Parts: sequence; C-alpha cells; structure tokens
Amino acid sequence: MKLMDKYNDSLRKVISHRFYATLLGKDKAGKTVLTWRGWRWMAIIALHLLFFLSFHIDIQILEGTLSASRILGFHLIDPFATLQVVLAERVLPTNMLIGTATIVIFYLLIGGRTYCAWVCPYGLLSEIGECINKQLVAKGILKERRFDHRVRYVFWALFALFALLSGYLVFETLNPVGIMSRMIVYGWSLAAVWVVAVLLMEIFYSRRAWCTYICPIGTTYGSLGWGSALRMKWDNDKCTHCTACMRVCPEPHVLDFAKKEHDAARKEKGIVTEHVISGDCTLCGRCIDVCGDDAISYEFRLKDFL
Ligand code: SF4
Ligand code: SF4
Repeated sequence: MKLMDKYNDSLRKVISHRFYATLLGKDKAGKTVLTWRGWRWMAIIALHLLFFLSFHIDIQILEGTLSASRILGFHLIDPFATLQVVLAERVLPTNMLIGTATIVIFYLLIGGRTYCAWVCPYGLLSEIGECINKQLVAKGILKERRFDHRVRYVFWALFALFALLSGYLVFETLNPVGIMSRMIVYGWSLAAVWVVAVLLMEIFYSRRAWCTYICPIGTTYGSLGWGSALRMKWDNDKCTHCTACMRVCPEPHVLDFAKKEHDAARKEKGIVTEHVISGDCTLCGRCIDVCGDDAISYEFRLKDFL
C-alpha cells in the first residue's frame, strides 16, 4: 500500500478517498511521519484504554465514562449531560457544577469540538464510515446527501426539551457516545445494535449524519469552540486554492473563507492570514494532513501570555 504523500500531486488528488493510508504520511523531506489523524487515533485509543484499565485493574487514573468521570480524583462532567440533569431533575450538585466548569474551561482553551476529533470514540467510528461512504459515492454506488448543518440546533433543543418534559435523560438512551464509552469500560451490551444502526445510516444514507446534524454533545462543545484559544490558521500567500482541505473537512463550511472567490476582497483589505473562527471546527488537523502547500497550521492564540 502506497503511503499518502500530500506533496505528491497525483496522490493528493485521491487523498480524500484514502483512509488507512492517511494514518501515516510523508513530511517534506520524504520521511515517514504520523499524521494528525494518526495522532488523534492514538489519543482516543489511549484515553479509553485509561478508562478501561482504571476500572479493570484499579489504577484509578481516569474513572467512570465520558459522561461523568474522575481524573486523579477531580470530577469531569459532560456539559450536555449536566444540562439534562438540571432540566430533568431540577438539581445541580456541587460536584457536578465543579466537574462541568472544569470541562468548560478546558475546552475553551483547546477548542470545543476538539472533543469530537480527539476524545469521542464514536467520532473515530464515524471517520471509518465517512471513508467507506466517500468510496461508495466516488464509485457511483451511492449518491451524496447533504443537509443544512444548522438542523443540529433543532435536535439540541428537542433533546433538552425531552429532558425537561419527561424528567428523564432521554438522549442518554440514544447516545452512541455514552453507549460506546460504557461498553469500553463495562463490556458489551445490546445497545451496540443502536451504535451499528447509526453507523450504517452514516455509511449508506448521509456521511457523518449523526455528528453533523444530530449529536447535541458536539453542538454543546461547538458553542465553546467559538471562544477557543486554539485555532486553525490559514495563510493566503501559501494557499493555491486546490480545495483539498475542503474535501476532507468534516465541516467544510468553516473553511469557506479560503475560497478563491474571496481573494480580491482579501487583497483589497490587505489580509494575509485568517483563522477558522467557527465553533464547528473540530480541530481534527485533516486540513493540515492534506495541504501540500502547508498553508494551514494550529495556532494557540494565548501563546504570548504564557
Ligand atoms: S458530534 Fe457527537 S458523536 Fe460526533 S464526534 Fe462529536 S461528540 Fe462524538
Ligand atoms: S478546518 Fe481543518 S481542523 Fe477544522 S474541522 Fe476542518 S479539517 Fe478539521
């Protein structure tokens, strides 16, 4: 299998269709390196291995599941889970408040939907599904189905409303992230069927549909992403407008500013670099992995204060 090389023009054309090959790539000197996708996969696997080992051999580093956990004794709570508890049970225990505030501060620093790309186990499955779907679309077996990504706000409000009206955490019974996280720690359950069903829907109906249109966890983290200190930086002088980044981006609208049609206005204003400001960006680094002009990079905007 040929390794993906973003500096090789002929390989670059198929970069959005290759999957396993993109865990490793070549740097400019031709050396084999782990791509950002490779790093992310390792991070997700390592994190869930910690959950698993903390439970099974009692190493007590990261206990619980993604919805509610303790790292070295400090509480961490998923903000959407907290919101559901508040709406359903009208309570906000102190531990929950502290755990949620810790998560909110952390993700304000490193980008809200970083959770989706670097933490969520379903996000990883969804990436595999994305690749299968892209190959089926490229072969003409399936047609591409995209919808307005803003429908995610409707689902977010609906799941919050369900909690408020029913007094139960309704979303948690449907949540593939929570189901997977619990299965990784405590073992298989019948709920795996639901995760498979969601994945099949993403493969055969609409690519990354759960993450793009439905998941209220991603939407909640996305709202934190608007204030993130970590951003993707784009350099107009280096960009050749090949659109490779937009073809692999899970939320391509966030890179809209990079289109050639905006160049004239940019030049008029003397703008050379831009940042992805949308909270929908997952900071997955796929755009860096495929950009043969090295026009995109991570930038931590508080670096001057450190
Ligand atoms: S949108 Fe939801 S399911 Fe998708 S990666 Fe983010 S948290 Fe996971
Ligand atoms: S802009 Fe880059 S880092 Fe952000 S979601 Fe798109 S591909 Fe990932």
